Amino acid sequence: MTSRPKKSVANQSTLFPVPKKPVKGTPIKARKAKTVPQRVPPLPGKKTWLSATAIETSRRCPRCFWLQVNCKIYQPEGIVSRLANRFDGVIKRYFDLYRGTDALPPMVAGQLDGRLESPFQETYFTNITERYGFMGKLDECIIRADGRYTPVDHKTASSDPTKRELIPAYQFQLDSYAFLLEQNRKPTTGIGHLIYFYPAEGEKLHDGFPMQITVKTLSTDPSRVKPRVLEAIAVLEGSLPIPSPECPFCAYVATVQDF
Ligand code: SF4
Repeated sequence: MTSRPKKSVANQSTLFPVPKKPVKGTPIKARKAKTVPQRVPPLPGKKTWLSATAIETSRRCPRCFWLQVNCKIYQPEGIVSRLANRFDGVIKRYFDLYRGTDALPPMVAGQLDGRLESPFQETYFTNITERYGFMGKLDECIIRADGRYTPVDHKTASSDPTKRELIPAYQFQLDSYAFLLEQNRKPTTGIGHLIYFYPAEGEKLHDGFPMQITVKTLSTDPSRVKPRVLEAIAVLEGSLPIPSPECPFCAYVATVQDF
């Protein structure tokens, strides 16, 4: 029996010219813009507030950051799981049961030094320049007996956090929280915690889903934050940057635009 030839992009080339696949890391050829993206000005007297996530985007792709902040143009989100949001809510409500007491939630007791901040202040702001500010939302905050604060972030992990490298963005996130606490007159301990929640294997899942809880402690350096925010502001104040060569989306648009 003769097998039918497999469908592939290559054997369609007799019908359509097949575009060359862009080599990863090569700059995407800038095409002549048909229109200039219009900046959406902030409301009179209002600042533009940047977060740690936005600052990370400014490094990953200055163009996407510029379009997001200056023009409110965002990448389409696609289908995204909201499971992590559900985890965050459940964990926060569990931690709240211990707020206002000297006890820490048993799942982290003995691994954190202090008690949960009560009342808990989640959101912090600080001015950077006349037109820009920096903001962040903490997941949790611990106060030591000496009155110093330790920021905490919860992470839902899909791989065992004890076996993987720290994502650099998490370091910046904790540095940012320490910076915001210090700017709001809350002296910090020089450390921050990431609490990972990782679904563990189990033979008795019918008795409850086991969670592996891993606390990672990082040194924090608030002085690393402002220079990066200023660097991001310089991007916003400049002209539209070129696309990141690492991102597949603009490469896709550049490939299909002439069809
Ligand atoms: S390269 Fe990617 S991240 Fe950058 S502007 Fe294009 S779509 Fe956005």
